[in-house]
Amino acid sequence: MNHDVIIAGGGPVGLMLACELRLHGVSVAVLERLTEPDRTIKAGAINVPTAEAFYRRGLLPELAAAQDESMAVFRSFMKDRGPAKPPPKFAGHFAAIWLSADLLDESDPDFAGQGPAGDIGFVSQQQIEAILDRRAAELGVDVRRGVEVTGFDADDTGVTVHMEPESMRASWLVGCDGGRSLVRKAAGFEFPGTAPEITGHQAVVEMDGPDRLSRGWHMTPTGTYAHGPNPGRVLTVEFDGPPADRDAEITMAELEKSLRAVSGVDVTITGVRSATRFTDNARQATTYRLGHVLLAGDAAHVHSPFGGQGLNLGIGDAVNLGWKLAAVVRGRLPEDLLDTYTAERHPIGAWVLDWTRAQIALMRPDPHARAIRAVVGELVDTVAGTTYFAKKISGVWQRYDLPGDHPLVGRSAPDLPLDDGTRLADHLRGGAGVLLDLGGLPSHVDLDEGRVRTVRTRCPDEPNLPGVLVRPDGVVAWAGGDALADALTTWFGARPK
Ligand SMILES: Cc1cc2nc3c(=O)[nH]c(=O)nc-3n(C[C@H](O)[C@H](O)[C@H](O)COP(=O)(O)OP(=O)(O)OC[C@H]3O[C@@H](n4cnc5c(N)ncnc54)[C@H](O)[C@@H]3O)c2cc1C
Repeated sequence: MNHDVIIAGGGPVGLMLACELRLHGVSVAVLERLTEPDRTIKAGAINVPTAEAFYRRGLLPELAAAQDESMAVFRSFMKDRGPAKPPPKFAGHFAAIWLSADLLDESDPDFAGQGPAGDIGFVSQQQIEAILDRRAAELGVDVRRGVEVTGFDADDTGVTVHMEPESMRASWLVGCDGGRSLVRKAAGFEFPGTAPEITGHQAVVEMDGPDRLSRGWHMTPTGTYAHGPNPGRVLTVEFDGPPADRDAEITMAELEKSLRAVSGVDVTITGVRSATRFTDNARQATTYRLGHVLLAGDAAHVHSPFGGQGLNLGIGDAVNLGWKLAAVVRGRLPEDLLDTYTAERHPIGAWVLDWTRAQIALMRPDPHARAIRAVVGELVDTVAGTTYFAKKISGVWQRYDLPGDHPLVGRSAPDLPLDDGTRLADHLRGGAGVLLDLGGLPSHVDLDEGRVRTVRTRCPDEPNLPGVLVRPDGVVAWAGGDALADALTTWFGARPK
């Protein structure tokens, strides 16, 4: 074996997964066909689970610095565009229907417990990739750029991965090679879903008279467009079928035609700094694992970018898979632990596909869609409506179906402040799970420090919580009741005899 794990694709998901594996000492190579990180404009923001995942690995300062940078650009955009009106408070959008933060019920319990990660959101995909690139280098990930995976042979013990001019062998191959994944196709994963109906463009351009384009999201008789939050950032959606050729170079003339058609404004584009074309193909692999081959990120699921979910979904896959694959590689847990990866992540992915499909249906420029859109708009314009949509968009609703009755089980662990001045997230930095003993652990359970680190402490904010078992991905596996011994065995292995 050259490596324990080979990851095909060094986008954000491949890099995140590689970093998670390295925390457990797994030897990992990332094979990426591009010679430089992709700087194309894609995701403009991250959700709460992504911010929490970075925070728990000690990367909050990097996220905060990236957000400061984004905010400075946003402020300059707002200042450049005339009247010193304060920017509208914004809690996200659904099918280009704006949510107002003024209507958000922040006291909803689902928003509780995020700690400082809750202050982070406005971080772009390019910034995330830059942070992960640095982190992968620090952790000693073997990242090989300019290397295209051309195929592989998998057997019961591992995978031989082919690339020009050589081959490499590893125990496991993970396809993080994007929506048109070679790994997914070559391994024979089923990928059912729904056909696309739109052509979308997102770009950062220079144009004459940008003031004539309204800021924000707009529905028009011919489609949807967005302008901002950064200078020159435009997005268009046209309902005239998918692009004829997704790989064709995106020209200035194509962008200008689309922007004029959708906005009805005769803007002239004079330069293009970054551009991408997208559609709403919505498909998901039925399983994320076939033998020693796994999928994560866009390789496992594709959908339109509405609602800003794809990057977050992929980072969630990587965080869920990383520690499990590491435990299997290290022989600490049996291979069937990996089945919980599909079981936990597939339903979240299926939800994202439907969330984006619903938005496409509401954005169609036909009278029926406009009518239902008006109804949804009225619902959004209420405290309950805004709060419902904000919970979905921010990801705070997410939980896994794990055994146990306590309401925290299966959820992202609250960032508990502990009486020694630390917070729970501080104890997850190294990538291992933790058992917080808050004074009420069942006395008959043999904790065995070799399996999971126990931190004996107090949490004045949660006087009734006996303790919490937190998996390496920050998910609560136990928070009271008789099932602690089972949870320890399931997620951290049987006690050595
Ligand atoms: C216009 C647009 C806007 C978006 N906005 C948002 C948003 O607001 N929020 C959000 O969460 N998401 C958003 N997304 C989605 C997000 O960009 C993707 O979900 C994310 O990039 C997926 O990451 P990934 O690592 O799985 O795949 P990718 O980013 O596609 O990375 C895959 C990598 O694999 C490499 N590769 C492919 N094939 C091979 C091979 N054979 N050998 C070696 N390397 C290979 C590629 O070069 C690439 O670097 C947006 C996407 C688009 C297009």
